[in-house]
Amino acid sequence: MGETSIDLPDDGACAFCAYLRGDRPYTILRRDELTATLVTREQRGVPHLLVIPIAHRPTLLELHDSETLALMTAVRDAARLIDKTYERPGIAVWQNNGKDANQAISHLHFHVAGTLDEGGTEWGKVKEISVEETDEIAEKLRAPKAEEDRAMRRSTRLL
Ligand SMILES: [Zn+2]
Repeated sequence: MGETSIDLPDDGACAFCAYLRGDRPYTILRRDELTATLVTREQRGVPHLLVIPIAHRPTLLELHDSETLALMTAVRDAARLIDKTYERPGIAVWQNNGKDANQAISHLHFHVAGTLDEGGTEWGKVKEISVEETDEIAEKLRAPKAEEDRAMRRSTRLL
């Protein structure tokens, strides 16, 4: 694949590749051969996940066919997981290519976010939460909902 017309952000060494290598701490909710699902520290929805290819692909344009299929499947699965765990009335999916489209990290990523209580998702500045907090979101998403409800009933009885 040759050069594209996309003007990429100048973000230096790729942060997502560093997370995938384990060089920097970050919450990786799921990972398979071709894709990973991360819990972003900039939560713009309830909750907000990122689905990325394992291989460094700057934009949608460089994706191989097998990755394209695997990514859309992972995006769907992330949406299903949000639906099952958070029961939001809406789930937004977006993906930006190039600085002009507000791409901040030049490693392709799909945003998958449950909508906020007031509706929509946050487009302005958001506070970066800690990795401990994103780990908690991942734990909640990993725990089967029924288990959680039972645990909650148990703890309520103990009060
Ligand atoms: Zn990368």
